[in-house]
Amino acid sequence: MTDMTDPAVQVAGAREIAPDLLVIPNHGVDLVPNIGVIGGTEAVLVVDTGLGTANASEVLAFATSVAAGRRLFLTTTHFHPEHAYGAQVFAGAATYLVNRGQADDLTTKGAGYLRMFRGLDPAIAARLEDVRIPVPDEVYDGSHELDLGGRTVRLRPTGRGHTLGDQVVEVPDAGVLFTGDLAETGQFAILPWFPPHDTDVTGAGWLSVLDRLVSDGPRVVVPGHGEVGGVAVLTDVRDYLSELRDETWRRRDSGLGVETIAAEVRAVLVERHPEWAGQEWIEPGVGCLCAEHDAARA
Ligand SMILES: [Zn+2]
Repeated sequence: MTDMTDPAVQVAGAREIAPDLLVIPNHGVDLVPNIGVIGGTEAVLVVDTGLGTANASEVLAFATSVAAGRRLFLTTTHFHPEHAYGAQVFAGAATYLVNRGQADDLTTKGAGYLRMFRGLDPAIAARLEDVRIPVPDEVYDGSHELDLGGRTVRLRPTGRGHTLGDQVVEVPDAGVLFTGDLAETGQFAILPWFPPHDTDVTGAGWLSVLDRLVSDGPRVVVPGHGEVGGVAVLTDVRDYLSELRDETWRRRDSGLGVETIAAEVRAVLVERHPEWAGQEWIEPGVGCLCAEHDAARA
């Protein structure tokens, strides 16, 4: 990764995107997620923690002040460290609730990702120094309706896409959808294809997840990283993943090797999206799609 800056959550930048529904935006900083604070009359739900305990403590303090005595819940969109690895500071203050698939990801992959992220950069290692693998208070099967009082939030696992255990958070009365890393704006989609340690990401599965989310017609989409927008946040990622798939598969059909394909596809896609960050995510994406291509034809 390039231009790594300290991944600090800026709670002061929080803005209300619907009544009693705040987003702490990531201001385009790597490894800072968009964080949600969703209020009902009785309770407040926080969506994602930021990377590490110092960020999560600031998020908790902010949410506690917003809650003003209302009960607190925490959920995370998926197990990746910048989304979930601060959950320990919410213990005793909030009920931490996740879907079964995400709880499984934390168990099977949590420690490996902690090691990997600590190795990325000294600033990230410092953020993760005292982090323990998150342990949810409650794990639900299927999907879950969380009644915050006068507002019901729907926690909905999508099936395998960006990870095995992705879930989206829907606020139906406001038409708001939190996608986690199933959508990012202003950058190439993050396909965490790290064989042999993690090969859960699926381009084909992710595309069908996005088709379903688009057909639900959300009014406001809060991506995992980047600017909040409308349904175009979803269709832009879907279009990009289609391009990535088509460019990769056409070359794989001609018998090219993964490295050659990655170099060619990177050149094509960077030229098509010159303003996007995260070019380093094209190559893992090509790896993922080559594996899916080969499996489908085996
Ligand atoms: Zn992620």
